[in-house]
Amino acid sequence: MANNTSKAETQDKTAKNVAEYHRQLKPGTPEFDMKKDFIKDEITGKVKRYFGKTIAKAGDMEVYRAAALTIRDEIMEKWVSYQEKCERKPQKELYYLSFEFLMGRAMGNNLMNIMETEVYKSALKELGFSLENIEEVETDAGLGNGGLGRLAACFLDSLTNLDLPAFGCGIRYEYGLFKQKIVDGYQIEMPDPWLQSGNVWDIARPEDTKEVHFNGRIIEKWEDGHMKFEHVDYNTVIAEPYDMPITGFDTDTVNTLRLWKACSPEIMNMTEFNRGDYAKANENKDLAEVISKVLYPEDNHYEGKLLRLKQQYFFVSATIQWIISKHKQKNLSMFDIPEYVQIHINDTHPTIAIPELMRLLMDEEGMSWDDAWSIVGRTFAYTNHTILCEALEKWPMDMVDSLLPRLGQIIHEIDRRQRIALNERFPGDTGKIEYMAVISRGQVSMANLCLTACHSVNGVAALHTEILKKETFKDYYSIYPYKFKNMTNGVTFRRWLYKANPELSSLICEAIGDGWVKDYTQLENLLPFADDKAFRDKFAKIKLNNKEKLAKYILDHNGITVDPASLFDVQIKRLHEYKRQLLKAFHIIYRYKSITETPENANKMPETFIFAAKAAPGYHMAKLIIKFINNIAKVVNNDPMTKDILKVVFIENYSVSIAEKIVAAANLSEQISTASKEASGTGNMKLMLNGALTIGTMDGANVEIREQVGDDNIFIFGMQSDEVLGLYSTNRSPSPELYATNMGIKSIVDTLIDGTFSGDEHNLFYDIYRSLVQGNNGSFADPYLLLPDFESYVHTCQQANSLYKDNQDEWNRKAVINTAKAGFFSSDRTIESYNKEIWHLR
Ligand SMILES: *Cc1c(COP(=O)(O)O)cnc(C)c1O
Repeated sequence: MANNTSKAETQDKTAKNVAEYHRQLKPGTPEFDMKKDFIKDEITGKVKRYFGKTIAKAGDMEVYRAAALTIRDEIMEKWVSYQEKCERKPQKELYYLSFEFLMGRAMGNNLMNIMETEVYKSALKELGFSLENIEEVETDAGLGNGGLGRLAACFLDSLTNLDLPAFGCGIRYEYGLFKQKIVDGYQIEMPDPWLQSGNVWDIARPEDTKEVHFNGRIIEKWEDGHMKFEHVDYNTVIAEPYDMPITGFDTDTVNTLRLWKACSPEIMNMTEFNRGDYAKANENKDLAEVISKVLYPEDNHYEGKLLRLKQQYFFVSATIQWIISKHKQKNLSMFDIPEYVQIHINDTHPTIAIPELMRLLMDEEGMSWDDAWSIVGRTFAYTNHTILCEALEKWPMDMVDSLLPRLGQIIHEIDRRQRIALNERFPGDTGKIEYMAVISRGQVSMANLCLTACHSVNGVAALHTEILKKETFKDYYSIYPYKFKNMTNGVTFRRWLYKANPELSSLICEAIGDGWVKDYTQLENLLPFADDKAFRDKFAKIKLNNKEKLAKYILDHNGITVDPASLFDVQIKRLHEYKRQLLKAFHIIYRYKSITETPENANKMPETFIFAAKAAPGYHMAKLIIKFINNIAKVVNNDPMTKDILKVVFIENYSVSIAEKIVAAANLSEQISTASKEASGTGNMKLMLNGALTIGTMDGANVEIREQVGDDNIFIFGMQSDEVLGLYSTNRSPSPELYATNMGIKSIVDTLIDGTFSGDEHNLFYDIYRSLVQGNNGSFADPYLLLPDFESYVHTCQQANSLYKDNQDEWNRKAVINTAKAGFFSSDRTIESYNKEIWHLR
C-alpha cells in the first residue's frame, strides 16, 4: 500500500492544507472584491474590444470567450515564469508522445487549479451571467477515442500537480472524435469542428515550425570516410506547433501540451493559379493539410491506412526534431540526451519515433550506429494498452519503404541486428524468431520494435502486465525480464471528484480536510466515516442530489422521466463487443421478461439503466448493439407493466463533459468485460471514486479495486481470465450448446430474432444472433463469452439489487468505503510510480 505515512504526519499535513484551502479568496473580504471588480472590468472590456458589444448585449459564447481569455492571461504569467525557470537550469524532461489527448473542457479545470472559481462566479453573476452556463458553452477538446486518450490527459494533470517538467506531444486535429446523435435508435456521426468557434486555450509557436519529409529516395555517398545518406525528391509538409498550458492544482508549475498542425509549404501553386485552375492550385496544399484533419475514430482497433502512418510520422518527426533542437540550445552534448530527455510512447502509435531519433543522430549529428542505438535505448519507454490482436499495429514494409525511405532502411537494419542476436539466443528456433522479429512476412511489428529498443515496457494493470509476461510477450520477457513493469492506471481526482462532484468534495473536505485533492494518500482518512451514520446519510443525500440533476439532464435531452430514487446502474464507455454492453442488455431483458411474464413473484425494485457509448463508424456489430439497446428502451420504458419499474436511457455523445455529469450520479458501475480483454479500464476508477459500487469481472483494474475494497464491497462474477484463455485454446465454444440446452438463455437470445424488440424489421438483429450461437463462417461462436457468464451475471445483479432494495444504509456504507479506498487509483500514484521506476525526473 502506498499509505505508510504515520497518523501524526498525516494529521499535520491535513492541518496545513486546510490552512492553504483559504488561499482561495474569501467572499466578503476586500481582496475578493478587488479581484472581482478587476475580473468584471476585464470581461466587459474584452467583450467590447473583441466583439464590439456592450456586456448587456453579449451572449454566453462571447462572455465565455472573454472570461476564458481573462483566465488565460493569469495563466500566461505563470507559464512564462515556469518556462524561464526551466531554461535557466536544464533538468531532465519528459516528452509524452500520444496519438490522442482527450482533454475535455479547460475553463472550469483551469479556474479550479488557480483557485478562482468563487471569485469568477461572483463576477459573472454581477454581470448577469452564470458560471455554470458559461462553462457549458465550451466545446470539449475531444482529440481522443476513449481510455487511452483520457489517460494521457490525466497524466498531464498529475505530472503538473507533482511539479514534474513534462510535455504532451500530439496532433492538433482539426476535427476531434465525431459527435454522436441518436436518430430512431441509430447512431449518426456528425463532424466535430471544435476549433471553428476559435480555441482560446492554445497559442501558435511559429518560431518552432519544423519540416517533415515524405517519399523520395535516398542517395548514398562517401564523404570524409563515412557513408552519408541524403534524402532527395521528397515531399515537404510543414508542422506548426500550438501550445496549450497545462495547469496543476495550486502550483506555479505550468506544463505544455504541444500539438502539431500540418500545413502545405506552398501557399498555392501560382502557375496553376495564374492559369485559372483554382482547384488544381490547391491540390498539394490539401494533400498536406489532410494529415492533421481528423482523428481516426477506432478504439482498440488498428487501421492499416497510409494516412494514419503519415499522421504518425508527421507528429513524431516534428517532435523529435524539436527535442533535439532544444537540447542543442542548452549547449548539452548529444551523448547526454538520456540524462535530460525521456520519451514515453503511449501505445505503439508513436513507435516510429525510435528510428526517427536514430536517423537524426546518425544522419544529422554524425553519430555511429552503436552510439545512436545506445542513446535510443536509454531514452524511450513504451506502454502497452491492449492484448486484442486487432489492435496490434503491423505496417507493410513496402508502405514504410516508399513513404519513409530512410526510416525503412533503419528499420531493416534494426531487424537484421536483432535477428542475429535472436539466432544466438534461440538457435534454429525459426518459429520463435519470426514471432519476435521486428520485420516478419513483409510487415514491421511496432510492438516488437518497442520491445527491442525501449528500456522499459509496461502494462496498465497488474493482471494485464502478467498476461503480457506470460502470454503476449513471453519470449521477450524471457530475454529482457528487467524491462517489464506494471503501472496500474489512475485518474485525476481534481477533475473526476473535486470538480465533477463539488458537493461530495465539500463533504469530504469537512470530514478530513482538503489535503486529499493534492495528496491521494489522505483520502483513506475517510474510511472511519463509513461507520458514522450521520456521515453516511449526508453522503447518500448528495448522491440523491446528483441523481436529480442527471434526471433533469435526461428529461431535457431524452424526454424520459427517471426516478432519482431508483438504482442508477450505469455502463459508460466505448461500445465494443468485448466490453459487453450486450450482456447488460440481456440482463435488462431478463428483468423485463420476469416482470411481464411472472409479475406475481418478480423483483419490482425500480432501476434506471444508463448507457453512453460511441461506436466506431465502421463497426457494424457495435452500431447494431446501440440500436438494440435503444429498441429495448422503447419497449421497456413504455410497457405499462414495466414503465414505472425499469427505465433504459441511452445518453448520446459520450464525452469527457458528459462523463463528468454521470459519474457523480451513479450507484452501480458496470465493468463487465470478458476477463483478460480489458487491459485496465479507468471508467471503473472514476465511478468508484464517486461512491458507486462496482459490478464486474476479474479483469483489468477491477482485480485491484477488489483488492482495495475487499470482497464484501464489490460484486464480482463470471469466468476468470485463465479460464477464458483456456477456453479459447480448446477452440470449442460452449455457447451453441448452452443455447440449445438452457431454456432461460434461449428465451433471452431469441428476442434478437422473434420481433420482441424489432417490430416488423424481422432480421434487424440477426447478425448479433448469429455471432452468438453459430459464429460467423465457422469462427468461435460467442467470442466474448456472454452466454457462459450470463447466469452468474444475473445472479450477481440480483445480489446488488437486493442490497439496494433491502438495506440502503449498508449500501451507503459500502459506497463510502469505495470512495475512501480509491486513493490507489489516483493518477498521481501512477505518475509517481512511472517516475520512480522509469523516468527518474528531478
Ligand atoms: C474515462 C473515459 C473513458 C474510458 O472508460 P472505460 O470504462 O475505462 O473504457 C472513455 N471515454 C471517456 C470520455 C472517458 O472519460
